[in-house]
Amino acid sequence: MSTPTSDLTERYAHALMNTFGPPKLALVRGEGTHVWDEHGKEYVDLLGGIAVNSLGHAHPALVAAVTEQLQTLGHVSNFFTTGPQVELAEKLLALLGGHDGKVFLANSGAEANEGAFKLTRRTGRTHVVAAEGGFHGRTMGALALTSKAAYREPFEPLPGEVTFVPYGDVEALAAAVTDQTAAICLEPIQGEAGVVVAPDGYLAAARAIADEHGALLWLDEVQSGVGRTGEWFAHLRHGVVPDVVTLAKGLGGGYPIGAVVGLGRAADLLQPGNHGTTFGGNPVACAAALAVLATIEGEQLLEHVTVLGQKVRDGLAADPRVTEVRGEGLLVGLDLVSETAAQVVEAAQHAGFIVNAPTPRRIRLAPPLVLTDEDAAAFLAAWPGILDAAGV
Ligand SMILES: *Cc1c(COP(=O)(O)O)cnc(C)c1O
Repeated sequence: MSTPTSDLTERYAHALMNTFGPPKLALVRGEGTHVWDEHGKEYVDLLGGIAVNSLGHAHPALVAAVTEQLQTLGHVSNFFTTGPQVELAEKLLALLGGHDGKVFLANSGAEANEGAFKLTRRTGRTHVVAAEGGFHGRTMGALALTSKAAYREPFEPLPGEVTFVPYGDVEALAAAVTDQTAAICLEPIQGEAGVVVAPDGYLAAARAIADEHGALLWLDEVQSGVGRTGEWFAHLRHGVVPDVVTLAKGLGGGYPIGAVVGLGRAADLLQPGNHGTTFGGNPVACAAALAVLATIEGEQLLEHVTVLGQKVRDGLAADPRVTEVRGEGLLVGLDLVSETAAQVVEAAQHAGFIVNAPTPRRIRLAPPLVLTDEDAAAFLAAWPGILDAAGV
C-alpha cells in the first residue's frame, strides 16, 4: 500500500504548522462526489470535507452563484448590508419553521458557537451545561464547551462555568441545570464522537428542563444541519423549538460561512456593540449558501438523502465485523469489532474511497448530499474487501 512520494506533502511539512498531522493526500481537482490526487488517482469522496461539500465538488449552481456575486459585489463590511445577506437570514428563519427570530452571520462553526456563547452571557447568567463527547470548535469559548480533555487541557484556563453531563441522560441533565444556568448546549447528533444520535425524547426533555429554569436551549447543528440528516435540521424530527441554533459546515457547500440563529427572546440578546465580524455575512458567502439551499430544494435532496442514507447504513451493517451502525440521512457512523479504524481509512483510500475515523474503533461517512446510487453501491461492494485489507 505504498503511496508515491509527494512533493506537496513534503513542502507542507516545512511550510504549514503541524496541527493536523501529515496530510493523507494532496488533492488537485473535484467533480461531483469524486476527487483526484496529484498522481491522477480518483477517489469517491465519502467525507465531503467533513460534512461540508453538500453539493459535492464544483457544482455548477454553487460555482455560478459565487462567480456572479464576486463579479458584482464581493465584500462591503458590516457598515452596510446586501441582498444576499438579508435573503439568507430570511431563508434560514423560514426553514427553521418560521418562528420569530434573528440571525448573526459568521465564518465558521467555532465562530458561530463563540457568538452564541456570548449571546448566552447576555441573559445575565454565566453557567452553561454541555455534553460529554460533544464538539463545538477550537476557539477558547468553543473549546470551553468541548469536553475532550486532550483538546482542552493544553489551553486551560478556559472560560467558565461549564458543567459536562453524559449525553442522552435526562436525569443527569435535570440535575445539572439550575436557575443560574444560562443555556444547555447540545448537538442533536454528536458528529465528532462518531455519529451518536440523541435518544428519542432527549431533546424534548432538554427543552422542558431549560424552560423550567429559564435557561436557553442551544442546539449546535454545525455538522447535522442543512439537509445532512434528510431534514433541514436534525432537531426538527424531535419536535422541539430551540432558542439558539448554530450552523456552519454544510451551509456554504465549501465556501466558509457560519450562522447563529436566535429564536424568540434569544433574537435580541445581542445588541449594538456586543459582537461583530469583518467577513461574516459577506455577500459571496451568502450567495453560496443561498445556492446550496436552493439546490437542496430544487433537486429534492432531502428525500434522496433519507433513502440513500438508509441503504448505506443497511449495507454497512450487513458485515459481521461492523457491530453497530448509527446516523440519520448521510451522516453515518459505525463501530468496528476491533480498534482498526485507522487501517480501514487507509485501506479504503487505497481502494479509492475517502472515509474518516473519528475514534480508533469508529468510521464516519458524511458524503456530499448529491452522492449517487452508483457511487454508494460501489462503496458497499468494496466494503468487505476494505475490511479484509485492513485486517479488521
Ligand atoms: C466542526 C464542528 C464545529 C467547529 O466548526 P469549525 O468550522 O471547524 O470551527 C462545531 N460544532 C460542531 C458540531 C462541529 O461538528
